[in-house]
Amino acid sequence: MNRPIHERILERCAIFHPLDGGCVYWTGAATKNGYGVIRHQGKAEYVHRLMAAYYGMNVEGKTVDHLCHERRCVRMEHLSVCSREENSWRENSKMWRAFFRYILTEESRREAEQRAAGAGVAA
Ligand SMILES: [Zn+2]
Repeated sequence: MNRPIHERILERCAIFHPLDGGCVYWTGAATKNGYGVIRHQGKAEYVHRLMAAYYGMNVEGKTVDHLCHERRCVRMEHLSVCSREENSWRENSKMWRAFFRYILTEESRREAEQRAAGAGVAA
């Protein structure tokens, strides 16, 4: 098991279509609550936390929140580090949820449009 942890995680992820939110969806084991887990250095660890750390986020003592509300998602843009207090505020804030649903939907729509417009054109 010498391969980097992010490689082991990403090879077991499915990529959602942008119009379905564009999540990078962990297909491996999950907790009862639906959070993805993997065995890493002898311990069961959350895949979204490992990936957030890999993306360079400072996760120590912090909560890693899913902006997309997909608990198995490990896509960088969908993860946000915050305090436990802020996380529970976000969970209870209708405005926060509505805002991010809007942002993610808008982004996904634009991505899909760009892909369609760029089809056949070398990037
Ligand atoms: Zn996501």
